[in-house]
Amino acid sequence: MSPEQSVLQAVFGYEQFRGPQQAIVSHVIAGGDALVLMPTGGGKSLCYQVPAIVRQQQGKGVAIVVSPLIALMHDQVGALEEAGVSAAYLNSTLSYDETQDVEWRLQSGDITMLYAAPERLNTPRFLGLLDDLHAQGKLSLFAIDEAHCVSQWGHDFRPEYRALTVLHERYAGVPRIALTATADALTRADIIERLHLEAAQQFISSFDRPNIRYRIVEKKDVTNQLLRFIEREHEGEAGVVYCQSRKRVEELAQTLAQNGIHALPYHAGLPVEMRQQHQDRFLREDGVVMCATIAFGMGINKPDVRFVAHVDMPKNIEGYYQETGRAGRDGLPAEAWMAYGLSDVVNQRRMIDESPAEEGFKQVMRGKLDALLGLAEATDCRRVRLLAYFGEQYGAGPQDDGRPLQAVAGARRLQCGNCDNCLEPPALWDGTDAARKLLSTIYRVHETSRLTYGAGHIMDVLRGKLTDKVAQYGHDKVSTFGLGKDYSEPQLRAVMRQLLATGALGLHKVVSENSGHVFDTLCLTPGSRAVLKGEVTVQLREAVAASRSKATRRGNQPNAAAANLGPDAQVRFINLKAWRAEVAKSHNLPAYVIFHDATLAAIAELNPQSLQDLQGVSGMGAKKLEAYGAEVLRVVAQG
Ligand code: ADP
Ligand code: ZN
Repeated sequence: MSPEQSVLQAVFGYEQFRGPQQAIVSHVIAGGDALVLMPTGGGKSLCYQVPAIVRQQQGKGVAIVVSPLIALMHDQVGALEEAGVSAAYLNSTLSYDETQDVEWRLQSGDITMLYAAPERLNTPRFLGLLDDLHAQGKLSLFAIDEAHCVSQWGHDFRPEYRALTVLHERYAGVPRIALTATADALTRADIIERLHLEAAQQFISSFDRPNIRYRIVEKKDVTNQLLRFIEREHEGEAGVVYCQSRKRVEELAQTLAQNGIHALPYHAGLPVEMRQQHQDRFLREDGVVMCATIAFGMGINKPDVRFVAHVDMPKNIEGYYQETGRAGRDGLPAEAWMAYGLSDVVNQRRMIDESPAEEGFKQVMRGKLDALLGLAEATDCRRVRLLAYFGEQYGAGPQDDGRPLQAVAGARRLQCGNCDNCLEPPALWDGTDAARKLLSTIYRVHETSRLTYGAGHIMDVLRGKLTDKVAQYGHDKVSTFGLGKDYSEPQLRAVMRQLLATGALGLHKVVSENSGHVFDTLCLTPGSRAVLKGEVTVQLREAVAASRSKATRRGNQPNAAAANLGPDAQVRFINLKAWRAEVAKSHNLPAYVIFHDATLAAIAELNPQSLQDLQGVSGMGAKKLEAYGAEVLRVVAQG
C-alpha cells in the first residue's frame, strides 16, 4: 500500500481518494508545486493534509498552512488532533506565552501542520523561524488555502496575500500547493502570476455539485417567501441566508426568530466577540440559520448545511457559486435558493457605477454582473449555465482554461434534472411586443422633456393610467399611451428586468433640479435598437403563482443522513448523536469534528458488536477507534 493510501485509511478512516485527490497528493509528496481548483466541498483539505503527514513521516519537517480564517483555526487544529495529527496555529488570538510555546514546539520538530494567518508570514520573527527550519531541511510544504484572496478579481481580495511572493523566493525547493474554489479564467491567471506558480501543475476538478438543487424565484415579498421556504422545506435544518446590507441582516434575523426559527445575525459591523459567538453556535448547535452578509462563510466547513438562501442578488457568479457551495458538503441533498427582482438589477448596476474604481475595472465588473443576470433570467437548465461559466460543459468534466463557454453545441437540450427549470420547466411567453412598446414609451416620454421618470411612471403611461403625474406632463398625449393596457404590471416589470439584464435598457443618472437628489432614470442604449426593430425576441417566464411550486419536503425525516434508516437504527442514530454532542461539548469542538452524521448513520445501520466491526466505517480512523470505539459500542448496545 502506498504511504498516502495508508495515511488516508489509518488517519482519516476513508477508503479511497476522491476525484483528483490521489494525483494531487502524489505530486506534492514528490515535491511538486500544485494549483488546485476544486469546488467547495470537493475535498481540498486532504490534498495538503495527507502530503503534510507523509512528508513529516519521511523526516521532512513541518507543513505551513496559510489561511485567512483566524476564527476557524482553533477548530481546524482540533479536527486534526482528534484524528491524531500533531497540529497548531499561530495568530493574533494567542497570548505571548501560548505563542512562545508553539514556537518552541515548532523548533523541536513536534508539529506536523502549522496554520498561520498571511500577515504572520510577513513578520521578521516568523520568517526567522522559517529560515532556521529551512536551513535544517525541516520545512516540508507550504499550503496556501483560499488562494483567490491574492487576486483582486476574486471576490475576497486580501492585500496580505500579496506578501506570499516571498515564499517562492526565500524558500526555493519547498513545494507549494495553492487551493481555491474560485476559478474563473481571470482569477486563475492572477493567482499564478502573483504566487509565481507558472511551473506548478494545475489540477482542475469538475465544478459540478450534483447534490445541490438550484432555484431562483421572482422576488415579491421576500421575507414571506423566505419564511415559507424555510418552514415548508427546511424546518429545523441548518442554513445560511445571505443579505446585501447589515441592516437587512439584523431585520431578517429578528423576523425569522419571531417566527420560531433559530436564527442569528452575522456581519462585519457586530462586535468581534458576538461574531465569534454566533459562528460558534452555528457550528456547534443543531439547526441554526445564519442571516449574514458575505463577511460570513469562508472556510466554514460545517458539512450539514442544508440550504443557502440569497434574499439579495450577489455581485457575480463566482460569489454566488462560492456561497451556495457552502450547502451540502456532506454530499446529501441540499438547496440553493435565490429571490431576484428588478431592484437587484438596479442596485447592482448602481453600485458598480458609483464605485470609485477606474473604468476598466468597472467594465469587468459589469460583464460579471451580466453573466449572473443571464443565469437569473434563464429559462433553461441553471446547472448547465453555471458550469459553462466556469468553462465546463455539463456531463463532460472539467475543461482546461476556465474561460466561459460561449456556445455549447446542444447545450440547450442538456438537463441536470436537479434545478427548478429542469424540474418544473417554466411556461414561456413572448415579450417581444411588450418590450418594443416599453422602449418606445421611454423614448417618447423623454422626448417631451429632460426630466426623470421612474419605472412606475413609464408603466402608467404604457398601460394608459391617467395619474396626476401623467396628466401634469401631458404624457397621455404620447403615441404609446395605453398601447400596453393588456399587459399586467408584473408582466411589464419582468420585461423591464430582462431588458435591463440584457443591456437593451440602461440606467442613467440625473440630478433633480428641485431637490438636488440623484435619480436613476431609464434610458435607451445601443442594445435597444435591435429590440425596437424586432430583430431579437424577448422570451420571458410566465409568472408562476406561489401555490404552484410544490413543497418538496422530505416527509418528516429528522435528518438527511438518517433518511434511509429503519426504526431500530433510527434509535441508535439518535443515541449516538446525543453522545456525540456531549463529547463535542467537553472538547469545545463542533460535533462534526468528532464524527460526521454520515459516519453515525453508518454505525447505526451496521449495529456493530465489536471494535473489529467498527474498523471499516468511513470516517473512523485509528485514533478515533482507539479513543471512542468502546464508547460507541456501549451507546449502540443501549439502543
Ligand atoms: P473543501 O475544502 O474542498 O470545501 P473539505 O476538504 O472540507 O472540502 O471536504 C469536504 C468533505 O468531504 C469533508 O467532510 C471531508 O471529510 C470529506 N472528504 C474529503 N475527501 C474524502 C474522501 N476521499 N473520502 C471521504 N470523504 C472525503
Ligand atoms: Zn437543470
